[in-house]
Amino acid sequence: MNLVERDIASVWHPFTQHSLWPADDPLVIDRAEGMRLYDSDGRGYLDGCSSLWVTVHGHAVPEINEAIRAQAQRLDHSTFLGLTHEPGIRVAEELLKIAPAGLSKVFFAGDGSSAAEAAIKIAYQAASQRGEDRPLYLHCAEGYHGDTLGAVSLGGVELFHATYRPLLIETRMVSSPGVLQPGETRAERARAVLAEMRALIEREGDRICAIVVEPLVQAAGGILTHDPEFLRGVRELCDTSGAAMLVDEVATGIGATGRWFAVEHAGVSPDLLVLGKRVTGGVLPLSAVLARDSVYEPFLGDAASARTFFHGHTYTANPLCCAAALANLELMHERGTVARAAEVGDRIGSGLRELAQFDGVAEIRRVGTMTGIEVRSVGERTGFEVCRAARRKGAIVRPLGDVVVLMPPLGIGNADLDELLGIVTESVQEVV
Ligand code: PLP
Repeated sequence: MNLVERDIASVWHPFTQHSLWPADDPLVIDRAEGMRLYDSDGRGYLDGCSSLWVTVHGHAVPEINEAIRAQAQRLDHSTFLGLTHEPGIRVAEELLKIAPAGLSKVFFAGDGSSAAEAAIKIAYQAASQRGEDRPLYLHCAEGYHGDTLGAVSLGGVELFHATYRPLLIETRMVSSPGVLQPGETRAERARAVLAEMRALIEREGDRICAIVVEPLVQAAGGILTHDPEFLRGVRELCDTSGAAMLVDEVATGIGATGRWFAVEHAGVSPDLLVLGKRVTGGVLPLSAVLARDSVYEPFLGDAASARTFFHGHTYTANPLCCAAALANLELMHERGTVARAAEVGDRIGSGLRELAQFDGVAEIRRVGTMTGIEVRSVGERTGFEVCRAARRKGAIVRPLGDVVVLMPPLGIGNADLDELLGIVTESVQEVV
């Protein structure tokens, strides 16, 4: 059996309909270098989705690989429960140096969902340990925070949500700040959603422990962008109601929007900030929840008080992941990668200007490098067909329904970026 046949015989892939998978001609990726992934026949593909929004400098980065190798020889793994280690301490310090003002503690997790899950529990427990009964969360339609049960509960993408409804925790959901009504501006939409939130808070604000948002762009919802004013409004509502502002920067954080964190565009600082994806430069899983003292302090007490955050995973703060994160962050500082991401975003904007006028394109939405090309449907899986065309032409991009998502590695050079934009443009024009 070849690798594809063996895969079909034994593997269950995430977010994959397996009755379609064999006909979809699975691609076996064999190696990666720089901005390209190579299949088992040696054919190269530009990594237009930064391997699901994680790759920062490209693949096989010598500095990151060397840091992992050196760390493996010194300390491969040790539990973070009741012990500590320098790589973990240093990553926490480095994250706090770049974090929005006021965030002072770092809780590690493995991937975006597990960090979101931790933050959800932290918000509730902090409130109850302050003596407040706040079992509810306020969140937005079209949000996505991961696929563990708590994270799904606070999501708003019906396709991922509906199946599990009987299992989900109780929440209050408002409209998406990024889905405009006909003729409406983004600023008007922001005000309308804030009004919905305000009405809910007037009714039961003292029972809401957190308002949960993806800042500036609801990524998995289809790169739905919103006005930064929305985040300032959420901050205000949190201040007046006593709910924590829980910001999920798993997709946006560590540079994707052209700033270290998306909340910087709005000039606000949350009470809890969730990070994942790009922390290690895209090579190993490491995520984190950053918290303010006001959230952390209710967890302090003597052993009998049971105020401890009874939560954590076997591989929490794995030293190899931490070494990769340190090497990644150091390179980002040295290379000015966040400023480069802003330039990459601008170049994507100008490179797709003509495509935006094309009949088959409903809208192009973008914040920094995070780009969604919404195509007009010409069949059952139009977005997918565009991505298949791109693959034939030598680039990997992924659809979210009829939105083709383009999110290249932050450090991509102009030549590779222009080639990628050319391939995506041709692919859209070929299919729609
Ligand atoms: N939160 C946001 C905003 C995301 O975009 C994602 C994944 O795309 C997650 C959480 C979940 O992260 P992970 O897939 O690493 O569990």
